[in-house]
Amino acid sequence: MSLDDLVLSVQRAIDRLVCRFRRGAPPVVGQRRLLIVQIDGLSRVVLDQGLASGHMPFVKRLLRRHGHRVQPMSVGLPTSTPAFQLAAMYGVHPDIPGFHYFDRQRQCDVHFPRRGHAALVEAKHAAGRRGILRGGSAYGCVFTGGADNNLFTFASLTRPSGRGLLAALSPFVVLGWVCLKSLLRTIIELIKAVPRLVARPVKGRQGRRWFTIKIGVSIWMRGFFTMAVSRDVYAGVPAVYVNYVDYDEAAHNFGPRSRAALANLRRVDRSIRQLWRVVRRVPEHRYDLYILSDHGQAPCTPYQDVNGGQRFERWIFNEFLDAKQPSASNGRSQSGLVHGLRSRRRGTTELFQHFLNYLDEDFLRRSDPEAHQQDGVRVISAGPNAFLYVMDVQAPLDADALERRFPGLAEKLSQSPGVGFVLARSSQGPLCFWRGKRYRFDERGMGPFAGRPDAALVAQGIADLMSMPSAGDLVIYGIDAAAPGHVSFIPEMGAHAGPSPTEMHTFIVGPAKVKLPLPINHPVQLYDHFIRYQETS
Ligand SMILES: [Zn+2]
Repeated sequence: MSLDDLVLSVQRAIDRLVCRFRRGAPPVVGQRRLLIVQIDGLSRVVLDQGLASGHMPFVKRLLRRHGHRVQPMSVGLPTSTPAFQLAAMYGVHPDIPGFHYFDRQRQCDVHFPRRGHAALVEAKHAAGRRGILRGGSAYGCVFTGGADNNLFTFASLTRPSGRGLLAALSPFVVLGWVCLKSLLRTIIELIKAVPRLVARPVKGRQGRRWFTIKIGVSIWMRGFFTMAVSRDVYAGVPAVYVNYVDYDEAAHNFGPRSRAALANLRRVDRSIRQLWRVVRRVPEHRYDLYILSDHGQAPCTPYQDVNGGQRFERWIFNEFLDAKQPSASNGRSQSGLVHGLRSRRRGTTELFQHFLNYLDEDFLRRSDPEAHQQDGVRVISAGPNAFLYVMDVQAPLDADALERRFPGLAEKLSQSPGVGFVLARSSQGPLCFWRGKRYRFDERGMGPFAGRPDAALVAQGIADLMSMPSAGDLVIYGIDAAAPGHVSFIPEMGAHAGPSPTEMHTFIVGPAKVKLPLPINHPVQLYDHFIRYQETS
């Protein structure tokens, strides 16, 4: 018995004791229960690499010996966590074109890490629908899926709901143990880093990234999630969704096949092993374990490295939209403090960025870091994707209307450094501008996607994306840029939101005896499967 197990059993005994003094019935026996483990950002090819290279020994064993199998899954567009989770949790095709976009209806930006944004989006889409996590728990997700317990879920990040807070704070044994263990690991990691730092001092930015990812996400958050889920499984919580972001964070910062990203994969594998052990210890709770990924990542070059340090959402104005006023702003100026914060965020991870965002939003009331508006046009850089919105109209403009306002813009953009292709709407469906030429998807050839075996899926994904009211009048992708390969409009080494094969193709591992829809070409299909666990309850 490991120390983790000992701590969990002590906690379990205390929980039972607490239960006896409160009301609360013991969990129903017999009903099948749902445990979803999401490895954020892991593509099918990197999963295969991880299985082959020994970075995921437990998942390999699960597939070989413990009656589980892996099935390919394609996630649609955009390849982004909020779009995936909303579809999987509520069974809807959401109006979520990216991680950061402009909501035409509410006339304001949606940027998921910001307080309240995920909750608003969830409320809008989930109205009247039953989420797959009703009565359950969500850890590290963008949305709650209807869960009673939410922790580190964007939709309730500053407001953990239900037992979320209690589950986090009151079980002092588990919490104390996670803290002690994480503290020890932190110290060990720091000690291990000393000789390396002495031999080859890392640059400040790299050092901070390493520190935040390794210590913050990988040790503390993963440790806490694993213990919290273990506790839920012992307690027989009907549906649990845990999202391990370790791999995604490292892949953004160092690249999807980097050593740091693969090392995090090994840590996630260890956590899954621990969860599986707990699942096996309570067979009467009849948990079905699923391991899935919401999207993959493409290795990329940051836009600023491609275009002389310029930011895309500014450059587009300087180059095409207003040559006379190169740096006119939208009426907001940057104070030194805001500028300092902003430049600091360049070197941070998404997670830490969330907290900086709260700071920024609440105390500084600054404008969006990756958005620029001028002369009635707003451009938002969201990742390897950027959106251009004409602000004086309510509904999206089609390519002809845009052409009248900005002649040749889409063609010229599609030939610009760091840009792969540009999407627009037309009465005959979406248009794609690629290397200065215009393509329709019902034509043979299909521009950048010609020859891909999954071209039909890409075309469907683009049709879905361009039918979202909140997608820009132009959707500009750095994926498949001519010169350096994939480009992201924000500073990162791995990116997702686009249609490259590694972004779109992921996997789902499930019990071999359970029949999953085949093929899975969109996460809404997962909803139909997962919601059945609710119906039996
Ligand atoms: Zn990501």
